[in-house]
Amino acid sequence: MVELHGLAKSYGDVHALQQTDLSIAKGEFVTLLGPSGSGKSTLLNLIAGMVKPSAGRIVINGRDATTLPTNQRGLGMVFQNYALMPHMSVFENIAFPLQVRRLPKAEIRLKVQQALDLIQLGHVADRRPRELSGGQQQRISLARCIVYNPALILMDEPLGALDKKLREQMQLEIKRLHAELGITMLYVTHDQDEALTMSDRIVLMNGGRIEQQGTPDSLYFKP
Ligand code: ADP
Ligand code: ADP
Repeated sequence: MVELHGLAKSYGDVHALQQTDLSIAKGEFVTLLGPSGSGKSTLLNLIAGMVKPSAGRIVINGRDATTLPTNQRGLGMVFQNYALMPHMSVFENIAFPLQVRRLPKAEIRLKVQQALDLIQLGHVADRRPRELSGGQQQRISLARCIVYNPALILMDEPLGALDKKLREQMQLEIKRLHAELGITMLYVTHDQDEALTMSDRIVLMNGGRIEQQGTPDSLYFKP
């Protein structure tokens, strides 16, 4: 689904990402885990097309995506701060990516309804994001991704703003959606427990490079 070949990014003298190769299989849940400044967001933003690589190639779904604009890469993104549009209702926020794609109105209504059912938030369709809890807002930002069937979802510390209880609830929710929809997930966190709970495979990053990778039970964590 995703192949990175010698992908690298420098900012002046700072090697945010050293030459990196990585493959992610269709339907896999892969987590980038590492301390602050280790290059996780840079890697994610390169795949998303929000950052231009200094070297290397990105292949998504068999297509060279290295120079494609973000909206042509067939992916969705979820951020820590939700990035919902405050002046739009929940329904309008989820509908927005479909309107951009110029789908017929009736189809938009149906798809948004299905996405709302999936995250069990049909009853707040007419509310504004600020009237909802952090967990609800994050589910809505997930729904806004899912609604246009992206092959890949990128999540950068999506639960970072939530308290412990909500975070654990949302981990289960994201796992459930992953299992039900079979979407490929690339997830960023600095929380080891979260990575262990959620991932098929953990990619440990440090100093702009991949230090180790493997299934949660095969990794060696330094104490
Ligand atoms: P992480 O997501 O693991 O915290 P980042 O990918 O954000 O790490 O950052 C990796 C390194 O690249 C850090 O040293 C960071 O300061 C640097 N960096 C990231 N973005 C920029 C930028 N826009 N300009 C300069 N340096 C940056
Ligand atoms: P308003 O004019 O109602 O204050 P904004 O200035 O927030 O709205 O947005 C202007 C236009 O850009 C609107 O059509 C809105 O839907 C769109 N827009 C705003 N934020 C985003 C975003 N994050 N991604 C895509 N489009 C956006």
